[in-house]
Amino acid sequence: VRHKLFDILPVARHKVVDDMRDGLVVLDQDNRIIDINPAAKFILATSMKEARGLLAQAVIPIWNKLIERPFDQEQKTIEVTTDSGVVRHIDVEMSVMLNRLGQPAGRLVLLRDVTRIKNIEKALRETNEELLARIHEIEKLQEQLKEQAIRDPLTDLYNRRFLHETLEQELIRAERTKEPISLALIDLDHFKNINDTFGHDAGDFVLKALAKCLTQKMRQSDVACRYGGEEFLIIMPGAPLAVATTRIDSLRETFSAKTTVVGSHQITATFSAGLAAYPVSGKNENELLLAADKALYEAKAAGRNRVVALA
Ligand code: GH3
Ligand code: MG
Ligand code: MG
Repeated sequence: VRHKLFDILPVARHKVVDDMRDGLVVLDQDNRIIDINPAAKFILATSMKEARGLLAQAVIPIWNKLIERPFDQEQKTIEVTTDSGVVRHIDVEMSVMLNRLGQPAGRLVLLRDVTRIKNIEKALRETNEELLARIHEIEKLQEQLKEQAIRDPLTDLYNRRFLHETLEQELIRAERTKEPISLALIDLDHFKNINDTFGHDAGDFVLKALAKCLTQKMRQSDVACRYGGEEFLIIMPGAPLAVATTRIDSLRETFSAKTTVVGSHQITATFSAGLAAYPVSGKNENELLLAADKALYEAKAAGRNRVVALA
């Protein structure tokens, strides 16, 4: 009665309030504790046996945290570190209580330990982040696999399979846009000699050197692939035969002037190229490749280290 307890709470309080798992603190207008249940004492880490009648700030170590911002009717979650260093998350709900005359008579503080839920949320978040990271990794690996499936491992140029698919699509597009496509079939000259003289590994270096040269000289829309052992095929969408021929001839000149250093050897090599273009040399992949091959044969027959175009 001294603490106006029965102004506010029903008679059966001990049954309801003491057994609650949520913490409950009742304060008067001067922040004096009118009632505090065992759960609140536990949650707030209050060791005081008899807290009633005392000022809240004297009893509750984290009182300042509780009233950090205007809290009427508000809910917030605060962190409480116990003496043993355990962090607990507490939902705090404060509301103003009115007396029978409708005047503010004090405050009611409800405390709920949500540490378990918070920890589960945190674990879920972490698992989620881990999963996302793994998905990202898998996507990257898939991307790599896809690249590996369409690339030649020695030169890193596209392989024949990719060339076939690309050429098919490019031809469909060229038919629609009425744009030309040029193809250049490139074959190293006397490559067997290079292998025989300097060894197979040195031959590989020359193949890589040519691939690098192709990549550097190519346009963004060009597609270069390793067509066979020492044969390469370049697709040049949009390039008419004459333009493509000039470009490949300039590439031939650049490459023939290059030396590939392998150990103590300085190797120079040349290539011959046969060019064909859609639609002047053929209408489909087969016709175009045949025309390019025929042109290459002519380049070889004419003495090698040259470019021949077949319209
Ligand atoms: P040409 O084309 O001027 O008529 O003469 P060539 O000596 O280049 O003729 P050919 O096409 O008959 O020989 C190609 C050689 O390329 C034969 C093969 O051993 C070699 N070769 C094919 N693939 C590779 C490879 O991946 N690495 C190396 N080092 N050599 C290869
Ligand atoms: Mg060959
Ligand atoms: Mg050859």
